[in-house]
Amino acid sequence: MKGTLKINNVTAWNGADSLVSYASLGIRDGRFTDPEALPQGVPEIDASSLTILPGLINAHVHFCLDGTAGSVSNLIAEPHITTAYKACAAARATLEAGTTTVRDVGCNGGIGIFLKRAIQHGLVEGPRMMASGPCIVMTGGHNRFIGTEIDGVDEARKAARRNLKMGADLIKVVATGGVITPMVEPEHVQLSMEEMRAAVDEAHNCGRRAASHAQGKQGIHNSLKAGVDTIEHGIYLSPDLIDEMLKAKTALVPTLTPMRRILDADARAGIPEYAIQKMRRVSRQWVDSFAAAAAAGVPIVAGTDAGTPGNPHGSVAVEIKFMVEAGIAPLIALRSATTAAAEAIGMAEEVGRIANGLWADLVFIKGNPLLDINALDHLCGVMKGGEFVWFDKARQF
Ligand SMILES: [Zn+2]
Repeated sequence: MKGTLKINNVTAWNGADSLVSYASLGIRDGRFTDPEALPQGVPEIDASSLTILPGLINAHVHFCLDGTAGSVSNLIAEPHITTAYKACAAARATLEAGTTTVRDVGCNGGIGIFLKRAIQHGLVEGPRMMASGPCIVMTGGHNRFIGTEIDGVDEARKAARRNLKMGADLIKVVATGGVITPMVEPEHVQLSMEEMRAAVDEAHNCGRRAASHAQGKQGIHNSLKAGVDTIEHGIYLSPDLIDEMLKAKTALVPTLTPMRRILDADARAGIPEYAIQKMRRVSRQWVDSFAAAAAAGVPIVAGTDAGTPGNPHGSVAVEIKFMVEAGIAPLIALRSATTAAAEAIGMAEEVGRIANGLWADLVFIKGNPLLDINALDHLCGVMKGGEFVWFDKARQF
């Protein structure tokens, strides 16, 4: 029976402030189940000497961007079909690295949405996906190369409805300028509150969520007024904005990774100069806002913005580690890529914990990540839906 097995001698991290032990974990048809209820004779594996975690979640990726220094210019120059093939490779690399669920928050055309379907149908190996389709941006706005340019409330509504018709799991709006698009600034307002509210309402009307690329203060404020569910980046968070987020239970996806990558001298070769200059200007504020939001209790969710210049696809562990370096407890950082992420993207009943009925997505590591977050690098295996993507218990580090 596919995706049916018993894992014995389990030490796991399952969202709490210490590791837990299970004599056995049962998995049936890809989901966790009571091991006592498994049929006789199912395959058994021994997990002693390993630590098991729920499969990790990356709530902010762009599979249409290839993560090389020239990822934006490549996307603009290449045919869509090339972008699609590269997106397939990005999806596989992500899954193999132990990130078993992703939220793609901006792809050109329907590539992200149809990649999700290809994975569901077993045509392509990749993580579970939620996909927004093209971002909704103003004419000339940030992310227009992975977006639909609109002006006015009616066009915003139409763009959202078109994405939903194509099968979007969420709507992504762009409230401010950003780093990777030339001639726009992170502090500047882009879509109006009214335009965003029209798109967000369309998402909420059909039970989907909305994410906002929001970096400057006014844009974050406009996004919160428009009712978005997650603030992406949130570079300029004031105490007032943090209060608003707490009241509305809006999560922050800080995406420290692209900033750290661009500031890292080794990774900078070939990255457009305008992006480096902007990143230098905002980096201190970016980390301060993240730390203040986390300290205040805003739900923090991990997202790497993988695909952006110099920011390759792979594990979300890199973001978890940057959070810890910025002063966040490993427990909060681990939750940001498991329980808190599942909650924020609307998949808490599917993934993010080891619990009966949820998908048996797991990563196998050596060591205790609560004590040393670098244990996440000691990957010995990845499982999605009760089937090993790969497993090498003897892997030496
Ligand atoms: Zn992004």
